[in-house]
Amino acid sequence: MDKGPIILKEKPLIGISSCCFGCAVRYNGRSMDMVKGIGREKGDFRWVPVCPENAAGLGVPRDPIHLVGENGRSVWHQDGRVVSRGGKDVTDALKAGALESLATLARANIKVFIYMDGSPSCGVYRTTLKKQNRGKPPGIFGALLDEAGYFLIPALDLQSPIKWWDWRRRMLAFLWLQAVPLTTRAELYDVWYRLKFLCQELDNPWAREQGRYLASLTGPLDPEIATNFRRQVSDLLRRPSTLKRITGSLWKNYCHHRKVTGRPVADINEPTALRNITAIARELIVMERESAKEGILFGTSPVLYSGRS
Ligand code: SF4
Repeated sequence: MDKGPIILKEKPLIGISSCCFGCAVRYNGRSMDMVKGIGREKGDFRWVPVCPENAAGLGVPRDPIHLVGENGRSVWHQDGRVVSRGGKDVTDALKAGALESLATLARANIKVFIYMDGSPSCGVYRTTLKKQNRGKPPGIFGALLDEAGYFLIPALDLQSPIKWWDWRRRMLAFLWLQAVPLTTRAELYDVWYRLKFLCQELDNPWAREQGRYLASLTGPLDPEIATNFRRQVSDLLRRPSTLKRITGSLWKNYCHHRKVTGRPVADINEPTALRNITAIARELIVMERESAKEGILFGTSPVLYSGRS
């Protein structure tokens, strides 16, 4: 069995809040090109920008809107509303725009969405940029994305090389996991072998326990076990790591690579070496390239895209 990295051949599709993609769709006619932060990697993906407020027909420019009620979820449960600054109730239009945007993502079979936090529509952890007491997160579209199980990435994290790297490697692993067959124990063990190092970095006690549990399985694979495994690992992959854990994992997996090849890789540093996050992200990318070139699993980032810049 090949135990090298998983190489995705097709460009992954990513949905994104249009205003983060440079489309001038905000209420004031402005936009932000947040994808610029990932440089040439932008070309490694296909992008599907959506804007629920424009799909709602609110137009540009428009009055800013805010949530009235507990949060975006409560709008879907009939006890919340969306109101414009001028006092107009735009709840029904916003619901239609959010559903239309979700349908666009579903049509393209998209599983990942980069959202503009702080928006009463697309926000997931904030629904206002200023400290206004106007509805709590998630926003009306953010609530739909969350409920539908999307892999959600805050656009702000595209501005940090290390945060983006962390999101990107977990996202590729997540996408692969959604599609890989899990009908036999052999398939289950193979998937676990590829993902366990990353899972250990994200939650070591859980991963150790999971490893013991999988080793205790016998006989044909119960489909419910496979479903639970996919769900639990998917949930874990949504959780960001920390710089300390990333550098520790980089070094550990680099040492494994060096042992297998018998050769060092230039410019890979020990976890205690002082360097900035851009340098650390560069080392991680170097190891991903080495992994792809040598066909040796770099457990820190087990799923790669073949067209990587
Ligand atoms: S945050 Fe969402 S709804 Fe608001 S302008 Fe951006 S894409 Fe449109």
